[in-house]
Amino acid sequence: MIKEIIKAEEGEIYDIELETDLLKANEKLAEENKELLKKYGVKAIDILGSIGSGKTSLIELLVQKLKNKYKIVVFNGDLTTTIDANRVGRHGVEVIQINTGKECHLDANLVKKALQKVDLNNVDLLFIENVGNLICPADFPLGSEKRIVVISVTEGPYMVVKHPFIFMGTDVVVINKIDLASAMEVAVEKLERDVYAINPNAKVVKTSCRDGEGIAGVISALGL
Ligand code: MG
Ligand code: ZN
Repeated sequence: MIKEIIKAEEGEIYDIELETDLLKANEKLAEENKELLKKYGVKAIDILGSIGSGKTSLIELLVQKLKNKYKIVVFNGDLTTTIDANRVGRHGVEVIQINTGKECHLDANLVKKALQKVDLNNVDLLFIENVGNLICPADFPLGSEKRIVVISVTEGPYMVVKHPFIFMGTDVVVINKIDLASAMEVAVEKLERDVYAINPNAKVVKTSCRDGEGIAGVISALGL
């Protein structure tokens, strides 16, 4: 069940084309979010990826595996729909939908608003699903502790090399839909090498979220 739907007000989201001072303002809010989360002992994890890569499916699996161990809240970012929040909410965890309107990324201000709706005393783990996009979320830290980027073999062989910035600051890269790799004629090992070339410290996990393959590897890569 969706607890809340937060809609971005006109002019509320910082535009990527606007100046560095706005990016700085976002960074300051992200630091505040980080402090708040730290104060309450909440571990927050960003989940980024293109539309259809499997972010929501991954969150659903993580929630199912971890909800008995941790008190989990999920923020789902999307332009206008509540599809993802409804999917995650079915698993009996608290979900907040953040609708960004026309904007193609979450920012720290929207996450701050969502955090105000949550009883942080009662949360161990927060998953934040960003809007499906791998470009500008790289410029908008939200205050989270870790970042997962989800890519899928259906996005083709150049997915990683075409989005270098997002992979630089990422802790875990999930290569999803590996069951479709041969049909797509995509070499999973090549995608993996591309990730390590950009970010040697990233942990790469191969999954098929459709059948749950690899999910234990994601959990251990996150230290959960
Ligand atoms: Mg989704
Ligand atoms: Zn954007």
